[in-house]
Amino acid sequence: MQLSSLLQRFNEPETLKMAKLGRELRAKGVDVIDLSLGEPDFDTPAHIKEAAIKAINDNWSHYTPVAGFLDLREAACTKLKRDNNLDYKPEHIITSTGAKQSLANAILALVDDGDEVIIPTPYWVTYSELVKIARGKVVEAKTTLESGFKITPAQLEAAITSKTKLFLFSSPCNPSGAVYSKAELEALAAVFAKHPNIYIISDEIYEYINFVSKHESIAQFGELKDRTVVINGLSKGFAMTGWRLGYTASNTEIAKAMEKIQGQMTSATCSITQKAAVVALTTDLKPSFEMTEEFTRRRARVLELVKDIPGFKTFQPEGAFYIFPDISYYFGKSDGTTTITNSADFSMYLLNTANVSSVMGDAFGEPNCVRFSFANSLPNIEKAWARIKEALAKLK
Ligand code: PMP
Repeated sequence: MQLSSLLQRFNEPETLKMAKLGRELRAKGVDVIDLSLGEPDFDTPAHIKEAAIKAINDNWSHYTPVAGFLDLREAACTKLKRDNNLDYKPEHIITSTGAKQSLANAILALVDDGDEVIIPTPYWVTYSELVKIARGKVVEAKTTLESGFKITPAQLEAAITSKTKLFLFSSPCNPSGAVYSKAELEALAAVFAKHPNIYIISDEIYEYINFVSKHESIAQFGELKDRTVVINGLSKGFAMTGWRLGYTASNTEIAKAMEKIQGQMTSATCSITQKAAVVALTTDLKPSFEMTEEFTRRRARVLELVKDIPGFKTFQPEGAFYIFPDISYYFGKSDGTTTITNSADFSMYLLNTANVSSVMGDAFGEPNCVRFSFANSLPNIEKAWARIKEALAKLK
């Protein structure tokens, strides 16, 4: 059978692949602890669930506008003003089935054959694959643990060519946990000011999960707002991954282009989710901040636990819920049966020996690291890291 050439251009997400392997082992009766997945292990806040139940009872059961209900787009504007001091109107907002679809919409709306897209490494797995789907060229700008996993203005300037169309990044960053400060974003904005043809996708899905500072958006810097597509959604901050709600804020031309694409792909996201999202975006953020407090406790504990592991070089995450240590110390080591030659071997070794799932760094453009989530309960985290320590001690 001849499937389309599109399928040859991109890979399936490693994050989902690892979760699937973990589930398969679990189905065989193995007690696998999942540190691979990126979703809060909390319940959706009660007032949001009640809004969804009300929406069902009020019969919000029909197709919605492609961009989303007007009250939802107004709610997104209220949120963007309240949290980010950004002024948008409903015509600038396109809601979708998740930040992932919003990213796809934005990339397909902006990137043409051969256009260069600068992505600082490490980056979320889906970025590079969506660029490849759009036939763009991924230009990786390497950042390091030593530089706090952040791109510098000089690095950005050096990566820009006449073919650069887009700069794509997340802050807080999945997988590194790096958070750009206002001054750091301003310094990048100064570079973009010299290159008026470059657009920016700013993925802010982890906005509320920030351990160090107030969230800052690159869209706040003058004319850059007009060239930036802000991506956000409910998955992480409101523990609503399964509800599927993402949104973009952009100029109207890009918004219309994304609406056209989405109109042929999914029409819109679920009507019930949209009604619940109005409540999520405009009311009490206390549950979100309580979740972040719990992530703060877990982060502190995980950082203590990894100190005990020989050879790990660990960046202290400033946001999101992952640690992303450099584990290259283990390359070339063996337990007598398995030799670790790269981060994929390392992840598989931990899955098979410690029954803990993680995600290899190659998937994020950083082959020396591995991502471990702390979106799991403290008892599970304790148990997982004890097992990891024991398994790694066997590698000589
Ligand atoms: N961006 C980043 C950086 C993510 O980590 C994720 C989810 N893992 C998404 C976007 C997609 O989120 P959603 O569930 O809203 O599609």
